[in-house]
Amino acid sequence: MVANVSSFRPGVAYFSMEFALDPHIPTYAGGLGVLAGDILRSAADLGVPMAGVTLLHRKGYFHQELDATGNQAESPQTWSPEEVLEPLPQIVSVEIEARPVKIRPWRFLVSGVNGHSLPVIFLDTALPENDPADQALTDYLYGGDERYRLCQEVILGLGGVAVLQALDYDPQIVYHMNEGHSALLTLALLEERAARDGREEINHADIEAVRQRCVFTTHTPVPAGHDQYPRDLVARVLGPERVAALEASGCFLNGTLNMTYLGLRLSHYINGVSMRHGEVSLGMFPGYPVQAITNGVHAATWTSAPFAALFDRYMPGWRHDNRYLRYAINIPLHEIQQAHLQAKRLMLEQVERGGGVRLREDVFTICFARRATPYKRHDLLLSNPARLKEIVQRIGPLQVIYAGKAHPRDGDGKAMIQRIFAASKELETDVRIVYLADYDVALAKYLVAGADLWLNTPRRPREASGSSGMKAACNGVPSLSVLDGWWIEGHIEGVTGWSIPHGHTAPDDESAEVMALYDKLERVILPMFYGQAPGYAALMRSAVALNASFFNTQRVVSQYVRNAYNNPADPETSLSAPGA
Ligand SMILES: *Cc1c(COP(=O)(O)O)cnc(C)c1O
Repeated sequence: MVANVSSFRPGVAYFSMEFALDPHIPTYAGGLGVLAGDILRSAADLGVPMAGVTLLHRKGYFHQELDATGNQAESPQTWSPEEVLEPLPQIVSVEIEARPVKIRPWRFLVSGVNGHSLPVIFLDTALPENDPADQALTDYLYGGDERYRLCQEVILGLGGVAVLQALDYDPQIVYHMNEGHSALLTLALLEERAARDGREEINHADIEAVRQRCVFTTHTPVPAGHDQYPRDLVARVLGPERVAALEASGCFLNGTLNMTYLGLRLSHYINGVSMRHGEVSLGMFPGYPVQAITNGVHAATWTSAPFAALFDRYMPGWRHDNRYLRYAINIPLHEIQQAHLQAKRLMLEQVERGGGVRLREDVFTICFARRATPYKRHDLLLSNPARLKEIVQRIGPLQVIYAGKAHPRDGDGKAMIQRIFAASKELETDVRIVYLADYDVALAKYLVAGADLWLNTPRRPREASGSSGMKAACNGVPSLSVLDGWWIEGHIEGVTGWSIPHGHTAPDDESAEVMALYDKLERVILPMFYGQAPGYAALMRSAVALNASFFNTQRVVSQYVRNAYNNPADPETSLSAPGA
């Protein structure tokens, strides 16, 4: 409850470099941050005592502007912490490059459906007592060079633990690392334990005790995606004693500090974020017992107003307990169609406001929106414009809405956006294609609800989970997707959506997938949309009943409580499972 927030004692501290909590807090880049926000929201709904920890990112990720050829320009996303967060007086200090850097915590409260509220702590170094350069350390999410990133990870990991202690949180809490960026928190816990015994050196008992309190979730199915820092940089930033401690814990690999290995070595529970990603991670990290908990989304956040009203009428308990979404299977089809038409109109109005283009509400609409990074292959649908024209002429009209930012230093991602602009010119008279700038959660809410089809074409096995298709399922929007990440679990052909089979060609040979994508659109999906509307509506309904009822963060948080937080080897950290 808000009233007793000062005496709040979390059982779990959830550390994440990004958090998507509120449209006015632009401290996320994509799915990792959305997941963190949705997990906190569901923990608040379930009454699981969790606190979030992240950085303030005063300049956000970035604002994206696109010119007429799809050339991306970036500018800071400055926001006002004082309008949405509460500053806390517990200022702490961490040592960076042998200087003290002061950190101010700010608090945001996440309110749950039953009135519980949970804190998320934002760490900020913009204090006058810090050097100007240190004041900027918590400005940019994923900005700067290697040194800047390592300094940010020191603030998140070491600073985060120091702030929780200053806030008088129970030292026996579970520490959950959402990806390796926060793995230095383990160093703070090791040092704390050694210091309690009056020792300077870290011993095996320290390592074992810290392991019993830590949980690590990995999100990256390719080794190149993991943070690593050369030994001399780590020595400069952290000092020689801490390098020695990290070396003693075995986290230097060929002379580099690997944050993933730090998380793996010092956690008793490790998981990937879908069943397939768990298997891939087991192969990547031999010897580590990697489990799997498939991601989800906060259903009440991602369900559009028209569908929420429908669910409120047919399954009034769905916000408290997402499992009631299973009973969407009884909603009359014409009501599903009505709700979807409303959501589609809301989306098309937004497209007109944001993109200056009026699309048609009776035309089959594909949406594709996510971070514009090459493995997601935004432009796979446009690989063969001639084939696309043929399909449209033969079966019926099609329009496509795109969105997504490319990281400022991702030249290939930027080139991909430009290719979409070029293809949209080429196809102008046959297929309307709109690329909306500045993709964020507010825009995502319109698109995941208003699309007729949610398209997902990552290069396998790069999509650890993916989550926007789950948001679409909350709104009865079926996916057409490569069989990777969560879709391997969520896909029932012709029932919850469709697959894009990959054939047995080499992984970088896209031709089989491109062919399969066009074939599925031409022979199955478009004919059904234009010729069998009730069949299409039945499919939308089963996407809700089968997928929204499972791929939600209520289930995810319950699974973390049962499998990860409830550690029989450490009874002091045990939480009881929320009414599951
Ligand atoms: C959900 C979401 C994502 C993640 O989408 P994926 O399908 O997992 O890539 C990225 N950005 C925003 C704004 C989102 O809402």
